[in-house]
Amino acid sequence: MTTSKLHISTLAVQAGYNPENAATRVPCIAQSTTYAFDTAEQIGDVFDLKDTAHIYSRISNPTVAQLEEKINALEGGTGALALSSGHAAVSLAIMNLCIAGDHFVTAKSLYGGTINLFMHTLKKYGISCTFVDQDAPIEELEKAIQPNTKLIFAESLTNPGMEVLNFKKFSKFAEGNQLPLIIDNTFPTPILCQPFQHGANIVIHSTTKFIDGHATSLGGIIIDGGNFDWTNGKFPDFTEPDETYNGAIYAKDFKENPFVVKARTQLLRDFGPCMSPFNAFMTYHGCQTLALRMEKHSMNTLQLAEWLEDHEHVEWVRYAGLESSPYIELSKTYLPDGASGVLAFGYKGGLEETKKVINKLKLAKLVVHVGDIRTGVVHPASMTHRQLTEEQLLDINITQNLIRISVGIEDIRDIIADFEQAL
Ligand SMILES: *Cc1c(COP(=O)(O)O)cnc(C)c1O
Repeated sequence: MTTSKLHISTLAVQAGYNPENAATRVPCIAQSTTYAFDTAEQIGDVFDLKDTAHIYSRISNPTVAQLEEKINALEGGTGALALSSGHAAVSLAIMNLCIAGDHFVTAKSLYGGTINLFMHTLKKYGISCTFVDQDAPIEELEKAIQPNTKLIFAESLTNPGMEVLNFKKFSKFAEGNQLPLIIDNTFPTPILCQPFQHGANIVIHSTTKFIDGHATSLGGIIIDGGNFDWTNGKFPDFTEPDETYNGAIYAKDFKENPFVVKARTQLLRDFGPCMSPFNAFMTYHGCQTLALRMEKHSMNTLQLAEWLEDHEHVEWVRYAGLESSPYIELSKTYLPDGASGVLAFGYKGGLEETKKVINKLKLAKLVVHVGDIRTGVVHPASMTHRQLTEEQLLDINITQNLIRISVGIEDIRDIIADFEQAL
């Protein structure tokens, strides 16, 4: 199916599978580890990357490929690689460019798990990073660049800070240093923000969140923008032959999407975090209603944010779609159709009082998750970000009284009523 002229909500429904005459309307699950071939030559060509047929489901699978094609179409990329989780996507995206001795620059307001990975685990493997304040002027950001810096990383809409990335500044920062800009676009999803249109080179997602949308399946994906020059001298792994694939040169032999081809053939092959066909099937189904859901999530969240802002027991509300938000101008530029389904607010009280409010909620459950159709809350200080010290928490604007809400698609009157009784 040629998808380039279709609108995004049509792509969400249709892209990824175009049934042949009398084929199943819904894609089937290819629950098979392997694929049958007639000749040794054929399978040899696949091992040499001359043929792109599936040979083993750790590397690729038809059901997973349908999901990859759908999300690639939504982001407007040149190729995608689905993985077992969002964390696998973050890890492989970094490891695809950095080896021991390399360095990268990252915005410091990040998903808690990503902070752990960057601050502790990657460091043990010799990959270091510098955390920068994404709102600092570009002259400040420049100071973080080192000769061994390989990439710039940031989230388009941060969790739980609800900060909107200044893409203009960050893409200029990356481009000026001839470095790729990798964007974690989990919170807006391609429905609300398409980072390739704003200078990003690689986009990643935790598909576990809004893309699946129903809290059924872990998953992650890396999408190649096909818009970065890997031959600028900083990336020898893209310009020198890969002996494990008969001397393939990624930047030359896979010009369109060398980043995801290399991530698949080297890292997915060797580390193995593949997405299961069943999870791909579930995620594909969830994704079909993504456009509808993001509109409803955003509408409900804005209404709840406005209601909370007027509540006597609420100290502050953080949501990029609120007129009072310091990010409203960036939000209007980069998230014109809605600021997604997550907000944070501060309760007028300390740690213990805040926990009490959470325990009183009935419709909204306590869940370590966002992006579900059902409303859920998290208390980062005691849950997702509990590994950080109080000082580190304050540095990324997480206070003891912060409650994060992932607003579902239920009737907004019922959601508000639940918070009214709890507050
Ligand atoms: C959840 C999340 C991740 C990690 O994804 P998993 O699917 O849980 O591994 C990464 N980035 C962001 C912004 C997230 O919200």
